[in-house]
Amino acid sequence: MIKADYLQNLSIITMSVDWSVNSKLYEGKAKIIYKTPDPEILLAEFKDDATAFNAQKRGHIAGKGEINCRISSILFQYLAANGIQNHFIDSPTPNQMRVRAVKILPLEVVTRNIAAGSLCQQTGLPQGQVLPRPLVEFYYKNDALGDPLLTQDRLLLLNLATGLQVDKIRHLALDINKFLQSFWQRCGITLVDFKLEFGLDSQQELLLADEISPDTCRLWDIAAEDPQHRVLDKDRFRRDLGNVENAYQEVLRRVSKVANDIS
Ligand code: C5P
Repeated sequence: MIKADYLQNLSIITMSVDWSVNSKLYEGKAKIIYKTPDPEILLAEFKDDATAFNAQKRGHIAGKGEINCRISSILFQYLAANGIQNHFIDSPTPNQMRVRAVKILPLEVVTRNIAAGSLCQQTGLPQGQVLPRPLVEFYYKNDALGDPLLTQDRLLLLNLATGLQVDKIRHLALDINKFLQSFWQRCGITLVDFKLEFGLDSQQELLLADEISPDTCRLWDIAAEDPQHRVLDKDRFRRDLGNVENAYQEVLRRVSKVANDIS
C-alpha cells in the first residue's frame, strides 16, 4: 500500500513538472529535446510540423506529434520486449517521451524490403518490386550535404562510427526489420522501408533512438490495391496525396489495437 501510494505520488510529480521551462537542448524538424534534472534522461516533445525533401517542403499535420509519439512509444516497448535495447523510458503526456540521453550517431540507417523512394530514383528499380533480401543502407545525417548515401569506406573515413558499431547496427537493423514486419503485418500493413537512428549512452552502449512512425516508415495498407490509396505514411504529404491526418490516425488505431491484443 505504501509502495503503491509512493509510486502514484511519483507519477503525479513526473506528470506535473514542466521540464521544458528554460531547458531546451535542441529543436529539430519533428521534435524538441529538453534536458531534465537527471543528466541521463531527456524529454522529447513531438511536433505537428512536417518537412520533406531536406526541409524544402514544409507543412503541418494536425495531431501528428501526439500520433507519432504514441506509435513510437508502443513500438519501442514492443522492441524492448523482444530484446532490442532502445532509449524509451515512458510517455508522461501523449506528445512527450522520456528517453535515455544518448549521443546520436550522425547516420540514418534505412532498411528496405520493397523498392520505393530514393532507391527507385537512384537505381531505376520499379516502385513496388519486392527485394530478394532486405537492403540496409547508411546515409550521412547532414542537412548541409543533403543526407548523402554513404559507402562503408566513406563512413569509416569520416569516423561516423567504428567498424564494430557498423556491423552491430547492420545486424540490429535486420533484427528490428523482422520484428517490425511481423508487427505491421498484424496491423494489415506492409513495411516497405524505414529509417532508424542509433546513439551511445554514457556507458558507450549502443541504443536504438529517435522515433518509429509514419514519418520514418513507408507503410502500405495490405487491403488497398490502388498504389495511391494504400499509402499510410508521410508519402501522402510528400506527394500531395491528401488525407494525411486520416492516414496517420488510421495507423495509430491499428497499432493500438495490435498492442492491446499482444498484451
Ligand atoms: O527517401 P528514401 O526512399 O531514401 O527513404 C527511405 C525511408 O527512410 C522512408 O521510409 C523515409 O520515410 C525514411 N526517411 C526518413 N528520414 C529521412 C530520409 C528518409 O525517415 N531523412
